[in-house]
Amino acid sequence: MNSVVVVGAGLAGVRSVEALRAHGYDGRITLIGEERHRPYDRPPLSKAVLNREKEVDSTYVELDLDALEIDWRQAVAAKGLRPGVVETTEGELPYDGLVIATGATPIRLRGEGPQHVLRTIDDALELRDKLAPGVRVAVIGAGWIGAEVTTAAARAGCEVVVVEAGPAPLSAALGDDAGAWTVPWYAETGVELRLSTRVASVDHDGLTLADGSRIEADVVVTGVGVRPAVGWLSGSGIELADGVVTDEHLRTSLPGVVAVGDCAAWWSRRFARRLRVEHWDTALGAPDVAAAAILGEDAVYDPVPYFWSEQFGHMVQYAGHHAGPRAARRVLRGDPRTDAKWAICWLTGDDRLTAILTVDRPRDLVQGRRIVEGGRRLDARRLADPATMLRDC
Ligand code: FAD
Repeated sequence: MNSVVVVGAGLAGVRSVEALRAHGYDGRITLIGEERHRPYDRPPLSKAVLNREKEVDSTYVELDLDALEIDWRQAVAAKGLRPGVVETTEGELPYDGLVIATGATPIRLRGEGPQHVLRTIDDALELRDKLAPGVRVAVIGAGWIGAEVTTAAARAGCEVVVVEAGPAPLSAALGDDAGAWTVPWYAETGVELRLSTRVASVDHDGLTLADGSRIEADVVVTGVGVRPAVGWLSGSGIELADGVVTDEHLRTSLPGVVAVGDCAAWWSRRFARRLRVEHWDTALGAPDVAAAAILGEDAVYDPVPYFWSEQFGHMVQYAGHHAGPRAARRVLRGDPRTDAKWAICWLTGDDRLTAILTVDRPRDLVQGRRIVEGGRRLDARRLADPATMLRDC
């Protein structure tokens, strides 16, 4: 192997470069990314950066270009792929090995009016400039990004309305009932939350809803999810299905090509299904396995997915996977209606922990993640007692 091309200079792309060198690969590496910024971490954008607690330079990923000896090409986009060649805006790049790490792009809604999304440093700075006391902000979507933007806008003194198509916040990620416990957080922050409400269009002065009524707003933020950034791969013959399809080694259907991060839908041995996880920890961890796969080593990517969100003054953390028939029942640790700190544990039919959501209970999260990894059975009665350490259940 003489030449590896990494497409996408986000966290997963940068970690792939580092992992290739860590695995002893000393051939040529070309890293291309369409953004003009140095590679950076996105989580602070909707938190410390939007809240004016940190500036964007604090988000830059540490990268020792000299030590890594990479050919890094900024503001260059991949346009197409054929076996052994990436077509870019600056010409063709031949490869022996290819890492696809192009992440995801936010979905925008219909309408002629301006709508902010939050994915890049530029998005964050543009939005931050608009958040000021008395500004009317309409946030579309009460998912992870919507909740964090709402928190920042309310903190800046804006009048915030959140419009959510589902019956509860976070319903797409957690299901309707789990997300419902976060509803009071909106009112406590002075935010109006409209559930089961669909937006028909984004207009110049606000939103038109599906029932024809209107919400007037100075600023509209659309936070309704992302799509894997794989348009450049169409026609390449690579298998795509909600992202780039990979096996448990992160190998795609094309020889010598692996995929990592938000754009990769990998086969999870642990959960016996394909997963595409749009979270930081996946972009951090997957590249080590992808580098091994590209260099012909035998490694399996089989993590317990993890993410966190900081919203309305709460630290919300999740580990595992509970969608589908795997989660037979749920056990609460604490009462979300009365307790400040609580957790939800999803158990399989034979009482093994498959996922855990914690609100301001970081110790539960750490212990729960280990238990999901280990796969042992729990005593559900002890689990329901929040005073009992999770590891002792
Ligand atoms: P990206 O970070 O999207 O990087 C992909 C890069 O590829 C981009 O720079 C893109 O411009 C480039 N690219 C795309 N197409 C091409 C092309 N054709 N040619 C060249 N380059 C291309 N996760 C958590 O777990 N917790 C959090 O609290 C959290 N907060 C977040 C807050 C925000 C505002 C955002 C946007 C995300 C957050 N995430 C969070 C998710 C996390 O940041 C992502 O999962 C992670 O960034 C994915 O990394 P990636 O490298 O796969 O993709």
